[in-house]
Amino acid sequence: MRLRQITLVTAVLGLLCVPARAEARDISRDTLAADDGWAALGTGTTGGAAADDAHVTTVTDRAGLVRARDGGSDTPKIIKIAGTIDANTDDDGDHLDCADYATGGYSLKRYLTAYDPRTWGAAKPSGAQEEARQASAAAQAERVVLPVGSHTTIVGLGDGAVLKGAGLQVKNADNVILRNLDLRDAYDCFPVWQPNTGGLGDWKTAYDNIWLTGATHVWVDHVTASDQGHPDSAEPTCFARNYLRHDGLLDITNGSDLVTVSWSRFAGHDKAMLIGSGDTATGDRGKLRVTLHHNQFESVVQRAPRVRFGQVHVYDNRYVVPEGAEYRYSLGVSTESAVYAENNAFHTPGHVEVADLVKSWNGTALHQSGTLFNGWPVDLLAVYNAYNSGSERDLTADVGWTPTLHTKIDSAAVADREVARGAGAGRIP
Ligand code: CA
Repeated sequence: MRLRQITLVTAVLGLLCVPARAEARDISRDTLAADDGWAALGTGTTGGAAADDAHVTTVTDRAGLVRARDGGSDTPKIIKIAGTIDANTDDDGDHLDCADYATGGYSLKRYLTAYDPRTWGAAKPSGAQEEARQASAAAQAERVVLPVGSHTTIVGLGDGAVLKGAGLQVKNADNVILRNLDLRDAYDCFPVWQPNTGGLGDWKTAYDNIWLTGATHVWVDHVTASDQGHPDSAEPTCFARNYLRHDGLLDITNGSDLVTVSWSRFAGHDKAMLIGSGDTATGDRGKLRVTLHHNQFESVVQRAPRVRFGQVHVYDNRYVVPEGAEYRYSLGVSTESAVYAENNAFHTPGHVEVADLVKSWNGTALHQSGTLFNGWPVDLLAVYNAYNSGSERDLTADVGWTPTLHTKIDSAAVADREVARGAGAGRIP
């Protein structure tokens, strides 16, 4: 068919046919349903639903987003993100790359020369290159860390809202909703070398796509979080350790409490979700209550989630480990954690075994029921206790609580299908 004919046919159809797609529903004043997980406790989670018209803003760039945040004020506000926003931009909207932030003579080459363990030893980096790294990192943080205040809803418009390079930070704030957003590549230009981490030393990166610190009543829904654009697998090895560029996708720490994470997609990343950042953070006792349901963890190496202290309800989630993907574990059971996992479905390649799905450090208990492993029902706990590495101790089934705040719990098989179809940004029904 010649082009003119195609154009003619299209034009005629255009006259005859009305698009079937209805106008997208306005989700910006949605609130968390009663009983939908821990974030529903007490006053529930309404985000910026009470905003007056002056505090409902549609933003298309970083500068607009920063203005709409209003310094992280407590005034109820709704921020709608349209299109792609790059956090690594200057006030004119021009992209900034790592070289633009580098200052004081910092370069990775000089940094590696200065702190090579063979010459520098195991002391914490200090001196000119470390000072230059810190100053450079501060310049990047000033751009990419975006604090979110209380009574705030941030939603993406339609199915194309992307926030690139940002670290959304809900710090000591209450009542926040983050929905329908594709959060990509919270890339750290200036990782720090920590010679005394994990015996061999390690690189520490600064940013999580979302970091909840001292945050309460937070609902994260239909979010996609990934390293898209800069996979860590493409990064080099420096001082014999992976030079990671990303920290967590969604970290929940420092006394955060009452969080529901639903219908979201965590993909293409190493350490996905840390709940509780330290064994000695005893202020987290009684807090870090989190519900994770109908989420997909796909090509995630570890921490889906890793939990300390919190009562965490993990139900109806879908885990996908593709053939050839790096994988360590999914459910991390750490100090005083009380993970209640039910009706989760795991899809893994042949070399991943049931006992690999769980890892314990100082954990004592894990509830699991209704688990599906490559389509087969398994008793995750019994298998873990029978086949764990031996350096890990057996876990008991009694985590000391039974979740009561939840919506309908589907079988793992039903959840598996629905999550595959419906989790992530751009998929709110
Ligand atoms: Ca983190």
